[in-house]
Amino acid sequence: MYHVPRRYAILGDVHANLVALEAVLADCREQGVTNYACVGDLVGYNAQPIPCLDRIRELCGPNVVVGNHDFVCSRPDPLLGFHPLAKAVVLWTREQLDSERAEYLRSLPETRTVETFMMVHATLDDPLSWGYVFDKLEAEVSFSYQMAPVCFYGHSHVPTAFEKAGIVRGGLYRNLLITPGRKYLINVGSVGQPRDGDPRAAYAIYDLAANTVELRRIPYDIAAAQKLIRDAGLPEQAAARLAQGR
Ligand code: ZN
Repeated sequence: MYHVPRRYAILGDVHANLVALEAVLADCREQGVTNYACVGDLVGYNAQPIPCLDRIRELCGPNVVVGNHDFVCSRPDPLLGFHPLAKAVVLWTREQLDSERAEYLRSLPETRTVETFMMVHATLDDPLSWGYVFDKLEAEVSFSYQMAPVCFYGHSHVPTAFEKAGIVRGGLYRNLLITPGRKYLINVGSVGQPRDGDPRAAYAIYDLAANTVELRRIPYDIAAAQKLIRDAGLPEQAAARLAQGR
């Protein structure tokens, strides 16, 4: 039987930026992506939560984990420890979500294993405490809870990758070769609000046959996304930061 080689697009931190998401999905089609997965934060920060949620749900099926914005936007709880900018958009997003879509976000799992890889939004050691993995020490803690050879994550919006082969090494990356016997913890960057100083949308392609992970950077119409934020009456800073990639 003939098998099409599986090429997974791993999307993360879409954050209601449909202009960026559509540019990414066009690139996915050009790159021969066959499957889709998402490491969470479908909503928050930007102005198009509903179509972004619907696109991710349709494309990824069960391959989606919950992000902290998905969590708080779909529950009525008080917002503790949220940045004022993020908080304003969370309150707005709660009003946009109907009960069926809010229930979908509440139903998303903390972690998920797909084929040979795991996914989590923040860290594997305590997924719902929303810690950040920026450095090797933080990666080491998450690795001790990682059963699969590869785990994709998001949350920091900075595309970093860590490899554990005895010691942990890592940092920014573009192309990775997955070596058997080692473990990998890979941040796929953010589709909708990059924070590494590069304003282009980010996502990764995991080719299961070639054992490669490629970080993709995709230009999109930032001015169009900013206009939608301003037209919705959301904080100006949410629009301004898109151009800076911060
Ligand atoms: Zn996020």
